[in-house]
Amino acid sequence: MVECETLVQYCDELLDAQGYRDYCPNGLQVQGRSQIQRLITGVTACQALLDEAITRQADAVLVHHGYFWKGEDQRIVGIRHKRLATLLDAGINLLAYHLPLDYHQELGNNAQLAKRLGILPQGRFGPADAPELGWSGELPQACEATQLADRLHSVLDREPLLIQVHERPIRYIGWCTGAAQGLIEPAAMAGLDAFISGEVSEQTVHIARELGINYFAAGHHATERYGVMALGEFLAGQYGLEHEFVDIDNPV
Ligand SMILES: [Zn+2]
Repeated sequence: MVECETLVQYCDELLDAQGYRDYCPNGLQVQGRSQIQRLITGVTACQALLDEAITRQADAVLVHHGYFWKGEDQRIVGIRHKRLATLLDAGINLLAYHLPLDYHQELGNNAQLAKRLGILPQGRFGPADAPELGWSGELPQACEATQLADRLHSVLDREPLLIQVHERPIRYIGWCTGAAQGLIEPAAMAGLDAFISGEVSEQTVHIARELGINYFAAGHHATERYGVMALGEFLAGQYGLEHEFVDIDNPV
């Protein structure tokens, strides 16, 4: 059992919650009861996750994609009303960490994806105004593009979209979880053999072909399960909480 205030303060410091120019507030987004014993984690604070949290008598829900995004309709109506009413009626706290959970050196989405795929992280890359966004690293053994696709499939339990544009073995890889398809250009400029992101756009395919870099779209949801999962496990160990990651299926 831990005070909600203590837990939030701990997470904020651990993840450097105030250190990012993000598209949403990071930290406690919706206040609930003051004591936390049962923690549910998930990728997105959708209604299905909240319903599961109630079934499992959670005191707090911790997610990567929370609420109050920049540019979003600010009115509390429709599905936004239903989600907030669900949390407030049940007294469940909602904690959300977006960019801080992508970036974190050990618990973050990119670090966790590398760990699962067996890539050794070596550096960062990105556009001139955000050079730290993408991660780059090396596979212990070079492989074929189709072998890496199979590995992604088995690790993430989701078949990736492979855009294969060269036959060279893959050794040096760039990756960035979520909607990071825009990083394919800096990945190619960094001389990497392949780039993995979550989402893909129509134009990503042409860029891959024209810059000669193999590309894998491994799923936004699928690539962003592991940061919040690792953070939940870590917090459970730290404070003796009951923790469960709930996977609400999302093919995108
Ligand atoms: Zn995301």
